[in-house]
Amino acid sequence: MLERDVIIIGGGPSGLSTALHLARDFPHLASRILILEKARYPRPKLCAGGLVIDAEVILQRLGLDVSEVPHVDADRIHFDFEARGLNLRVSKRHALRIVRRDEFDNWLAKQTESKGVEIKEGITVKNVVPFEDHVIVETDQGDFRAQVVVGADGSNGVTRRCIFPSVSVHTARVLEVLTPVTTGMHSDRRNGIHQKQAAYFDFRPIPSNIAGYIWNFPTQVNGEAMRCWGIYDTNLLAGKKRPQLKEPLAKEMERFGFDLENYEIKGHPIRWFSPENHMSVPRVLLVGDSAGADPFLGEGISIALGYGALAAREIGAAFQRNELSFQGYRRRVLKSPLGQVLFTRWLLAYIIYPLKWRWFQVLIWRILKPVVIVFAWLFVLNWGKRMSSTL
Ligand SMILES: Cc1cc2nc3c(=O)[nH]c(=O)nc-3n(C[C@H](O)[C@H](O)[C@H](O)COP(=O)(O)OP(=O)(O)OC[C@H]3O[C@@H](n4cnc5c(N)ncnc54)[C@H](O)[C@@H]3O)c2cc1C
Repeated sequence: MLERDVIIIGGGPSGLSTALHLARDFPHLASRILILEKARYPRPKLCAGGLVIDAEVILQRLGLDVSEVPHVDADRIHFDFEARGLNLRVSKRHALRIVRRDEFDNWLAKQTESKGVEIKEGITVKNVVPFEDHVIVETDQGDFRAQVVVGADGSNGVTRRCIFPSVSVHTARVLEVLTPVTTGMHSDRRNGIHQKQAAYFDFRPIPSNIAGYIWNFPTQVNGEAMRCWGIYDTNLLAGKKRPQLKEPLAKEMERFGFDLENYEIKGHPIRWFSPENHMSVPRVLLVGDSAGADPFLGEGISIALGYGALAAREIGAAFQRNELSFQGYRRRVLKSPLGQVLFTRWLLAYIIYPLKWRWFQVLIWRILKPVVIVFAWLFVLNWGKRMSSTL
């Protein structure tokens, strides 16, 4: 049976970030890490690919330059209610960098392998069984044995289901669609056309009990300019009467001349963070969506990279102490800049979505603009830099 010190289940941003941080900070462990990934790179991953600055800060700190990955830069982000609201720009740089996840994850996997970490692709983990002095990872290609296992296998991950079989989880529902840039219709934003380099979040579905927003980002697929559209619903208003999720998205796209029925709609849940989420048992840690993504916007790439940094520190210190219970992991995640931001976004989700009256949404997105921007700048964004100083 193949044995490694650390087996990471899942080679998305959280698993790869865990490996990259371990290889950088505890180089003697690099050759003792194994990543098991069920797909083969470059593999599809449903995601709009919006990278906030915190993702770039964490990657830079690892010595990685994400501009090597094909991308589109949005020069501003609009947070709107019914097509009007606040406009976020960042001085002298882009506000959001948009990648395709097949390309981004493939690049990150190659960077990880170049640090001496082995990735086995095309292996699906079926079961994770922790024992007192090791963990057995059962896969479709035999069993593996590890000292420590990291569950980085996403929102539907098997690791979480094995170690917390009866714990309920919060998941958001999300739909995504890719279209050409325009239908050739002439119009402006108010009547329905986006500015080419802007990314939009519009909270218009909230009064109809969809606790989330519609997004519309510039992107590229194989070098061709496209738009990525989608709708996010935390499910916080799930008990109330709601339209079908695709209805508000179809209406919004219609304003821009697109008929949703002509495009392929894809959906995937996002498991979101709550301060009560369980994150570890002895010898097994969860990271990324498996531990919980941002509940407010469903943003998870920077968060996944941040979890990787925290988990690596936890694992390195645990090996040094020779004590692998990971008892304090959740507490340390909550106390970290990442945990504080996740907590703030969790609070925001519980305040902004249930207060679903139109006047309240107008107040937040249009009237209290300066307050919202300062609050977001201080408490919702820019946590990556603070992480750097604590790691
Ligand atoms: C429609 C949509 C749009 C989104 N848009 C954005 C966005 O614009 N910006 C943003 O920041 N976030 C976005 N997110 C969230 C983001 O995609 C996730 O938060 C992020 O991918 C989490 O990374 P992860 O590494 O934890 O999990 P994942 O990226 O899901 O990676 C998990 C990996 O584990 C592998 N795996 C799963 N099960 C097994 C198994 N049994 N055995 C072996 N391997 C396994 C999978 O193949 C995968 O490679 C979006 C999500 C959705 C659904």
